[in-house]
Amino acid sequence: MALLTDSMALARWRDSCRQRGGAIGFVPTMGALHAGHLALIQAARQQCAHVVASIFVNPTQFGPNEDFSRYPRTPEADRELLAGVGCDAVYMPEVGEIYPEGFQTAIRVEPLTLDLCGRSRPGHFDGVGVVVTILFNRVRPDVAFFGLKDYQQYQLIRRLVADLAMPLRVVGVPTVREADGLALSSRNRYLDGEARVRATALYRGLLAARQAWRAGERQVAVLERVARDVLERAGIEAVDYVAVREAQTLRVITSFTESMADPVMLMAVRVGGARLIDNMVLSREDGAGLSL
Ligand code: AMP
Repeated sequence: MALLTDSMALARWRDSCRQRGGAIGFVPTMGALHAGHLALIQAARQQCAHVVASIFVNPTQFGPNEDFSRYPRTPEADRELLAGVGCDAVYMPEVGEIYPEGFQTAIRVEPLTLDLCGRSRPGHFDGVGVVVTILFNRVRPDVAFFGLKDYQQYQLIRRLVADLAMPLRVVGVPTVREADGLALSSRNRYLDGEARVRATALYRGLLAARQAWRAGERQVAVLERVARDVLERAGIEAVDYVAVREAQTLRVITSFTESMADPVMLMAVRVGGARLIDNMVLSREDGAGLSL
């Protein structure tokens, strides 16, 4: 697997791919890789002749009181994992390579990013939008792969790519979970034994809401209450949000109609030292069918 640490090396790698032909698939990450990330690489491997991942802990998407400095960094293990699933190249730029002296451009996708995680993490999605745009311009992929685990982020990227007419396709990959349902996340490392057990309540809450949906419940407030009850019974008091939204636009649902697109339930909570998020499309199997 090629290790690309600067844009010149990346450009040479890309040119050699272009000469050989076939699509370039791209998987942006912040490293501390786990099986969720690897599912994205595997999806790229299936759909593209060339696969490149990036590892970049993006400072602009962390708030001043967030975990940028303690975010897990495991570059050697990451490279082994990537090579093990057949990734062709990894781009690991320094901060100055992405944000050179004098950088001043901002990207905002609103109203999509004002609510949910955007409300409690002001500026977070602006940082995501700008770094993904820069990475796309450097890598110039044909297809980019994102996890549905970060559902609001996934919808932001789709909007950004459509609005700015970026010449690439965005694919959403279903959430990879532990056997007990906890969505894999680099931040799960922050959970100690007892918090790790409580963290299973996110998935159980989502499943309870989906069961209620399937039983015919159509009141948003009731669906949200069902999931909140599961969280509260598990002793999770720091609930940031539990919300049912329209799955493509994340708009508030006032009432369900026949023609309505799918409802997605999204949640964010604090457990132990970690902020955890999860989501589920209530009307479908987990995330299935949403890779557009
Ligand atoms: P991150 O390194 O957290 O920025 O994540 C990089 C990519 O991996 C994003 O597109 C995430 O949505 C995706 N991802 C993270 N965790 C999972 C998971 N459990 N299942 C599927 N994709 C994931």
